[in-house]
Parts: sequence; C-alpha cells; structure tokens
Amino acid sequence: MHPIEYIFPILAEPKKIFITTHQKPDADALGSSLGLYHYLIQKGHEVTVAIPNELPDFLHWMPAIETVLNYESEPKMCEQAIAACDLIFCLDFNHLSRIKGLEAPLRAATQPRVLIDHHLQPEADVFFCGTSNPDKSSTCEMIFDFIRQCGDEDLINNDIAQCLYTGAMTDTGSFRFPATTGSVHEMIAFFKHRGLEHSIIHQHVYDSWSANRMRFIGYALYQKMDIASSGKYGIIALSSKDMEPFNLMSGDTEGLVNYPLSIEGVQVAVLITEKNGEIKMSFRSKGNIDVSTFARTHFNGGGHFNAAGGRSDLGFEATIEKLKSLIGNIIP
Ligand code: 5GP
Ligand code: MN
Repeated sequence: MHPIEYIFPILAEPKKIFITTHQKPDADALGSSLGLYHYLIQKGHEVTVAIPNELPDFLHWMPAIETVLNYESEPKMCEQAIAACDLIFCLDFNHLSRIKGLEAPLRAATQPRVLIDHHLQPEADVFFCGTSNPDKSSTCEMIFDFIRQCGDEDLINNDIAQCLYTGAMTDTGSFRFPATTGSVHEMIAFFKHRGLEHSIIHQHVYDSWSANRMRFIGYALYQKMDIASSGKYGIIALSSKDMEPFNLMSGDTEGLVNYPLSIEGVQVAVLITEKNGEIKMSFRSKGNIDVSTFARTHFNGGGHFNAAGGRSDLGFEATIEKLKSLIGNIIP
C-alpha cells in the first residue's frame, strides 16, 4: 500500500468515486463516509456512498443520508456504481471481509482502492494507497486530516463538521477514551469556531431511545449480566429467545457492552448476542489488556486494542463456555 499522497494527482480531475464502510455501520463509519462525500462533491467529483447493511435509526438525521445506498436492499445499484467508478474509498475498516455482501464485488473491482482507517492489522496488499493509523481517535478525525492535507480546510462546511463530529464523539466515548488527543479537541474547536452546534448531535445520538430499548437494557443488566467471582470481567449473553419479546431495532444493543466496565474492578466486558443463528461478540477492556488479539485468536475477529468484535459458530452455550475458559488468561 502506497502512502495516501498517491491519490492527490488522481483527485486533481473530476472522478466517479465509490465510498464504502464496514457492515453494521456505526457513527464513525457513516460520519466519515458522508464527511468525505460532502468534501468530494465540492471538488466536482461524482460520489456514491454505499453501506453493506442497515443503519441504526439514530443516524438517520445525517446530511445526505437519503443518497446512501444499502447493499442488502439495493445490490444492483451498488454493483452498477462500483462498475462505473474510477476509484474506491474504504473507510473505517481495513479487511474486505468486514463488508459482507459487498466483499465479492469490491474484491473483483480493478479500480484503485484507497484506505483511510484506524484499526489494527490492515489487509494492506488489497489497497493501492492509504493511511492506517491505530493511534487515531476515529476515521472521522482522519478525514479531517485528509481534507486539510489536500489544502482544503476552507471547504469544511457545516455538513462536514456535523458528520465528522458525530463519529469522533462516539468512537471516543464522548471524548473520554485514551485516544482523545489534543488534536481531537483542536478539530472540535475548529468546528465550533465555524458555528457547529454540537449539543443537537448528542441529542440525536444519545437521547433518541425508545422506551422499549430502555426496558431491554434494564432487563439485560438485571437478568443477564454475569460478573465473574474474581470481579475482573463481566459477560452479558443474550440468546435470540432472550431478545425476542423486545422486538429490537438495529442499534438497540449498541453501547450495552460498556456497562460492566463501569463496575469498579471490572477490566474486561463481553457482549454475546445470537441473531438469526449467528453469534456476534463484542469485547471491551481497560488499560493494557489487548482484546483485539484475543478476538482474532479465538473468535474470528479483531478491531482495536481496547474494543474489538468477533463471531462464533459453536452455538450459544458452547460459546459462553469457551469464552469463560479463556478470558481469565488475558487479565492480570
Ligand atoms: P463492536 O463491538 O462495536 O461491534 O466492534 C468493536 C470494534 O471491533 C469496532 O472497531 C469494529 O470495527 C471491530 N470489529 C467488530 N467485529 C469485528 C469482526 O468480526 N472482525 C474484525 N476484524 N473487527 C471487528
Ligand atoms: Mn471507527
């Protein structure tokens, strides 16, 4: 993979550009994609943003959301956009296995792929050029850096600011995780000096729960959270049967994995969810505990040092057993 600068001469002329991001897109995935969209269209490019599957409702307010294609509901339009494009931006993921149905058409595409991402261990040989920096708070922050590197900070309008603020906010846990560097606060100051209203964004993302979701979280914490006798880790495991009565929407389990970490002494939290026969796992840790390697080694996953995800084919109960037999080993 060449450095990101290799794309600058190509972007000097108007191009057809395809932007995509990881499955189950979160605020950093969508915010970085639409932030880049709002920049590139000002430069005269023709831009399509496509996501692998549906978005949580709390992101539906984002500027230009109505233009975003969903591969699961509009596969033909996505494939046509890929066939017609001159280059492809891959944002907030670094392995093509993270984009579900879009993987096959994207792997087959011969146009240059450009990576902008902050996860560990990129599949570097599939990208023509890019930037991969796990020290960055968010892909949104990297899009901000990219626009400035292009010499275009004057093009950062309110649409871009809203998109990038959202992903930086959620990926830093509202500016509390260690990756919240001075440069993150400088970016926010830049947006604020240009008139960004940040509090409305917090309302869109955090004050938009259904009563049903609140009751579901209450149930999960009261009935389904298992804190180890050592007090060092907490597991919340939810089978399809557990979740069925709540009629959950996409995004309703978002953030649930973080709760056990608020208990004093708990250093690792794991959320296991079973949906349509698939078992998805989320891992969070504090300090020097590497859940990314753990997820990659034992649960077909990966991610960041302190926040990772994975999958299991073992069945619900056996997955819990396997997790419990291994998790203690990574906690001092
Ligand atoms: P979450 O638990 O919120 O789904 O994911 C936490 C982090 O781990 C995110 O940065 C996400 O991109 C990454 N992640 C989640 N699931 C997977 C997976 O199956 N494989 C890899 N490589 N990363 C994942
Ligand atoms: Mn991210």
